[in-house]
Amino acid sequence: MAFIKINRQHFFHNLNQIALQTGSVDKIAIVLKDNAYGHGLEIMAELSSEFGIKHAIVRKTSEAKTIEKYFKNILILGDSIVNHEKFSYAINSLEDISCAQKGAKVELKIDTGMHRNGITIDELGKALEMIEKQGLKLIGVMTHFRSADALGSQWFWQKKNFESIKEKVKARGMKDIRFHAYNSASILRAKVFDEDLVRVGIGAYGYNELSEVFDKIELKPVLSLHAKKVSTRKLKTGQQIGYGGDFVTKKEMIVSTYALGYGDGWFRGVKYSPYITAQNQPIIGRVSMDFISLEGNKEEVCIMDNAQTAAKQLDTISYEIMTALDEKIERRVE
Ligand SMILES: *Cc1c(COP(=O)(O)O)cnc(C)c1O
Repeated sequence: MAFIKINRQHFFHNLNQIALQTGSVDKIAIVLKDNAYGHGLEIMAELSSEFGIKHAIVRKTSEAKTIEKYFKNILILGDSIVNHEKFSYAINSLEDISCAQKGAKVELKIDTGMHRNGITIDELGKALEMIEKQGLKLIGVMTHFRSADALGSQWFWQKKNFESIKEKVKARGMKDIRFHAYNSASILRAKVFDEDLVRVGIGAYGYNELSEVFDKIELKPVLSLHAKKVSTRKLKTGQQIGYGGDFVTKKEMIVSTYALGYGDGWFRGVKYSPYITAQNQPIIGRVSMDFISLEGNKEEVCIMDNAQTAAKQLDTISYEIMTALDEKIERRVE
């Protein structure tokens, strides 16, 4: 059996670091999409609420319904727009406005340079008119940065585009609108923060993905992945382990099988360079659907306690390592 430990203290430490940057817990919106980056939607919603966070962000209405009781407002990034007291919806295109249910709360997403979602800067006037005509309540205007984690001028260029949007919206005399653009990388690099909300995902879970040149705010990984022993055997020199028999013992070895595999969302990796676990043990032979082999006979092993270092080994990013972890794996808060 594999299981995940969620470190409550580390989560609160990270949220404190972010609150120091925003100046207030009220300005933090915790991003809980994709099963809270693999940590467990409901567990992380409850912990966030315990910390005092009032705003959450998910992808679908079904996710929002699961965690409704923990928050004052939940922003839904991509789903059919319906009227709900606590939910607001991102508008990703002009069509979204035409399809929205009357009375629904919406937050207009502006494409300031990422070119994936949102209306163009030129469509602002039209979008605002359509929102009014459709009888929607505009409560926010937002954008998303494409390279907040890299040193360079692009982040500033997008920020400037968004500033001009803010001015245009304000010039129309629209009130009670929250403006937000910052993700984790933005709030971790920012020297000043003057928006209404920061949308924090990866930073809250313990990873500072900024390039080396920035001053680092220390964050602590919240999630660790563990596996229990299934069986142990003593092997002679020259015996092969696992599918394809890729691994051949060079000496007598005690080898145990642990209940974790690619069926649980763990990465199969490459056979030439085995993944080294958090306890410095290389995975022996191929990763199977439900099992891996390690030398020794420990009852329980820690496979991964830092998604960033694991990601380097597996040639991906921390986000993918965590979101890949199957929802069915038990999560324990410690
Ligand atoms: C996922 C997401 C975020 C969070 O990004 P992090 O880099 O994890 O902080 C913020 N805003 C939007 C629109 C997102 O989709």
